[in-house]
Amino acid sequence: MADKTLTCLECGQLNRVPEAKLGAGPKCGTCGAVLVPRKAIDVDPAILEKAARNDDLPLVVDFWAPWCGPCRMMAPEFSKAAEALTGQARLVKLDTQKHQSAGMRYQIRGIPTMVKFQKGKEAKRQSGAMRDGQIVAWAKG
Ligand SMILES: [Zn+2]
Repeated sequence: MADKTLTCLECGQLNRVPEAKLGAGPKCGTCGAVLVPRKAIDVDPAILEKAARNDDLPLVVDFWAPWCGPCRMMAPEFSKAAEALTGQARLVKLDTQKHQSAGMRYQIRGIPTMVKFQKGKEAKRQSGAMRDGQIVAWAKG
């Protein structure tokens, strides 16, 4: 079975994980962080860029900001979706207020916006809050 490349969402180290081990709680060889978390992880732009470029699992990013009501409403839904998608996709959050350059770099015009990266490039994006079931279906499609 093929190895999967996963960027550590805490330290940015690239890790290779045998596909069969994805469900066995693999950890980063450098910092020990869980590589396939059951929840959405906050990332900074450098880690986001690295993961979007290198990961073999789909990466779903929620671009949000603390001042945005719909974003805060979607947060628990996004968390539930992250748990449901464990091992199939990794869900991360990027705070566009803290990291304004990332909002520009990814041309985020309204939030919340979700972007799915797959095989090193953007596969699709969607603006507006969604429920957990919708997020899961969108992330799989
Ligand atoms: Zn690490």
